[in-house]
This record gives sequence, C-alpha cells and structure tokens, in this order.
Amino acid sequence: MKLFAAALLGFVLNTAAFAGPMPTVELLWSGKVTPFYTYTQDSLKQESIEEFRGAEMADRMARFAQGFRLRHDLSVGFTSCDTANAYYEPRSQMIVICTEFVDQVLEVLKADRQLMAQLDKPRQMIWVRGVLWGVFLHELAHAIIHINGVPYTGRQEDVADQFAFWFAANHISAQVQPIVVPTIWFWQALAQKHDLAGLTSDSLRHILADEHSLDLQRTYNVTCWFLGANPSGAASTAKFVGLSDTRAVRCPEEYASLNNAMRSQFTKYIRGASTR
Ligand SMILES: [Zn+2]
Repeated sequence: MKLFAAALLGFVLNTAAFAGPMPTVELLWSGKVTPFYTYTQDSLKQESIEEFRGAEMADRMARFAQGFRLRHDLSVGFTSCDTANAYYEPRSQMIVICTEFVDQVLEVLKADRQLMAQLDKPRQMIWVRGVLWGVFLHELAHAIIHINGVPYTGRQEDVADQFAFWFAANHISAQVQPIVVPTIWFWQALAQKHDLAGLTSDSLRHILADEHSLDLQRTYNVTCWFLGANPSGAASTAKFVGLSDTRAVRCPEEYASLNNAMRSQFTKYIRGASTR
C-alpha cells in the first residue's frame, strides 16, 4: 500500500481545448474546494490515509476541482468506509474516496497476472492512478450537476461516466496520465469478478434495480465513446473488450452526440485547472 500510495501523484492538465459557450452568471460563482483526510482508530487504515496525505492526493484533486466554476463550496478527501466505494454526498457536498476502494483497485490489478507482467512498477502506479482519477472525475460530475443544477436526462450515473470520459479524453494528456484505458480495464475486471450467471435471482434483481449500469455495460459504453472519439487509437481496446461490430459502427455518432451535450452543459463551468 505504501509503495503505491507514495507514487499516486498528480498529472498535467491540457488546458488548450477549453473553448465553448461563454459563461455569464457563472463568472460570479466562487465556490471553494477544500481537501480533507479523516482520522480513523484503525491503525492500518490510518496509515493508508496518512500515505494519501503525504502524497497530497486530496490536495491535488481539490486544486483540480477548483478549476471549475462552482455555485457553492465542495470538499474532496479520503476516509475509511468499511466498504470499497467512492461517492459524492449531496447533503454535505463532499466527494469521498474510501481507502478500501483504492485497496480494491490494487487487488484487481494484482489478480490480473497478464497485465502485471506487461507493466513495470512505475507503470503499475500510473495505471492505478488512472483508475482513481477516472473515478474522481465521475464523482466530480455528480458534484457539478448537484451544486450547479446542471440539467440532464437519463440516469445521472451514465451522465457522470460520460463526463469522466469526455473530460479525460479532451482535456488530459493520455501520455502524461492515461485514464480512459485503465478505467475500461477496471470495469471489465469487475465484470469478470462479479459473474452475473452465478447470481441468485434475488441478487440479480438487486443489481438490475441499481441506478448504475452493469459493469460490463460501463465497459462497452466507455469503449464505444473512446472508439467514436479516436477510431484508430481505440481499435485495440475495442478488440480487447470484445465490443460488438453492431455497436462499434454506431460509436462515432454516439460520441458526437455525447460531445455536443457535454460541451453545451459543462464547458461553461471550466475555468482551467492544473494539479501542479
Ligand atoms: Zn456515480
């Protein structure tokens, strides 16, 4: 844990593409973003939290989120939750990343021997960091939607996935910090871990009633948007996850529609951000 957390540093944001509708009243919004690291009596978990504090992870995420115009304040931080989770809490306007979630990403990576064999230690760090930043962008979407009252249709969970992909693909250099491919890998690994065919009917009902798309649907959704945005760059990923040809041919149109929606609904909140 120590080795991984110490390497979970930030990345450079590509601010060159911040063009879109001019904001009006949003220019006056001055919500502040504050980092936090909570205290727990569990010494092992406290050690993890101290590692994140040492690596200034929440500080970097808060500075990054400060690159968005927010109507109200927001806080971002790490805590122990007793479950592998990351979430936005609307009542307290907090993005919470549980140390157990980071542990889960590490476990899933270690279990993927094929990938582990391809990545040296520094690249493993970059990979895990990519998943964490992808999840953070998803939670940031929930926060922006709630705090700024962004209109949307369909499931907010899908919109948050769309925002996370769109922002990563358009505003963050994949050479400096890959986010999209590690995110796709993570959803697929979780889908393989939670085999739907082995579930009881009660468990299946529970999963189908959830507001999130299924892990495998999230894998295919993000892959499809990636393919739509970057047909040549995403071809090997589409093959790796087994995206069907019938979905693949529609991906350019699907991404164009997503891009249009994201630009019209979110660009006005971007003021430019850097994690440095
Ligand atoms: Zn969510």
